[in-house]
Amino acid sequence: MITLISGGTIIAYKDGGHRVLKDGVLVFEGDRIIHVGTAYDGKVDQTINAAGKLVIPGFVSTHAHVNAHEGSRLITDLGRRDVMRSGFLNYTPNNGIDGRPVVAAASAEHSIRFGFAQLIRNGVTTVLSFGAGSRDDPKLMTDLADESGLRVYYAPQATGAENYFDKDHQGRLQPIWNEAVGFEQLERAVRYVEDHHGKFDGRLQGLILVRNFILATVPLMRRAKEYADRLGVQFSTHFCEQLFEFHETVRTHGMTPVDLMEAEGLLGPNVILAHCVYIAGHSSTTWEYSNDLEKLGRTGSVVAHAPVAYLRRGYNLEGFERYLAHNVTMSMGTDVMPHDMLGEMRSGALAAKLIGKNHEAGTSASFFDAATLGGAKAFGRTDIGRLSAGAKADIVILDFDNMQIGPVYDPIRSLVHLATPHLIETVICDGKTLMSDGVLTGYDERSVVEGGKRSLQQVVDQFPERHWSGKSAAECFPVSYAAW
Ligand SMILES: [Zn+2]
Repeated sequence: MITLISGGTIIAYKDGGHRVLKDGVLVFEGDRIIHVGTAYDGKVDQTINAAGKLVIPGFVSTHAHVNAHEGSRLITDLGRRDVMRSGFLNYTPNNGIDGRPVVAAASAEHSIRFGFAQLIRNGVTTVLSFGAGSRDDPKLMTDLADESGLRVYYAPQATGAENYFDKDHQGRLQPIWNEAVGFEQLERAVRYVEDHHGKFDGRLQGLILVRNFILATVPLMRRAKEYADRLGVQFSTHFCEQLFEFHETVRTHGMTPVDLMEAEGLLGPNVILAHCVYIAGHSSTTWEYSNDLEKLGRTGSVVAHAPVAYLRRGYNLEGFERYLAHNVTMSMGTDVMPHDMLGEMRSGALAAKLIGKNHEAGTSASFFDAATLGGAKAFGRTDIGRLSAGAKADIVILDFDNMQIGPVYDPIRSLVHLATPHLIETVICDGKTLMSDGVLTGYDERSVVEGGKRSLQQVVDQFPERHWSGKSAAECFPVSYAAW
């Protein structure tokens, strides 16, 4: 089956970067793009008329918790002060040593299905799925990844410690260390990668995930990186998203987290550091004595930047431009609800200008590059995040002739600063149409939304049993306005 897309503006890849191709044509056959240019004379089986549309590569999200985000829905504008503005520590710790986290009450299947469907609706075609909430169900995640039709990087994660809170300690966070469990989880991850890497026509890719740098011992991190290198896959971990990660590492090891990672051989082009906010040079760390960015850049390490999650908590990395200037590979994650890459790019660009005190910082092109080419580089690939002959047919088409977009001078600036997910009409991944004319092809959207709602309701209903305080969700996290 050969499909031709014509008549619109195509963001096409040429000579090492994106180019704007007006009234161009894009042709794909099966899962591959076979031609991009000004005309095509070969035979085609079907045509998509893209007049008035913008045709872009599917977005690559290098960090996402694929679920309905029951926990983070509770805490926006709210949450405890003793975790230095971190959000997830309000709901992911276990209730008591043997308890479960608040979000574990959600119905995982409905929650995860909601997350995958939302990613498609928002034009993401490749996603690094970093578990759902703080619990992992590899079989379920694998089945739902297959069902989604998306390109998914996933393996069950490993951790050296679990946080818990209880009444006896007035809810203060207590880590319980168990490195042996972490090593067992790594073995499970290796078996998963060996069994699943390349499944579903290559759409499922394995990798090695350590839940959090600060909840892992150095030997566990070393083993994880060794396994990733041996398997030829990515290694990713939450890294310096919380301020105290930086200070605890300095106190324990006498060096910054980045220094420690470098000293232990844990940096490199296959290393995706989710967030990487609190490093030397960030004003909150009060540490100006080492050049973390230089080390990240020199080693080819990747940052998964997901600004919406931390802008909601009142912080951000400082700053996007400095990371780029040090040759750090910048990619974009959608992290939490609503998995909206357009929103991530816009928020990130605005924050970069504010933090850089410079209107030339955070350009639309640099954020679009991060959300496409940067993500491809993060996974060591040259066949995604771009529209060119030989690349995968991962294609997104937006309505670009409407009141929201209005007159267009520069399509990338219009995309980053004006576009909303509702303009996304067609999403193609691996040559298969996952959304057509704004309708998801593989899901009954209404039932997916209802499933997500049920999952949140379960969390709210079971909140008093799941939370150390025994209080209701409404008491812990009051809603914006009182009921009528
Ligand atoms: Zn995360």
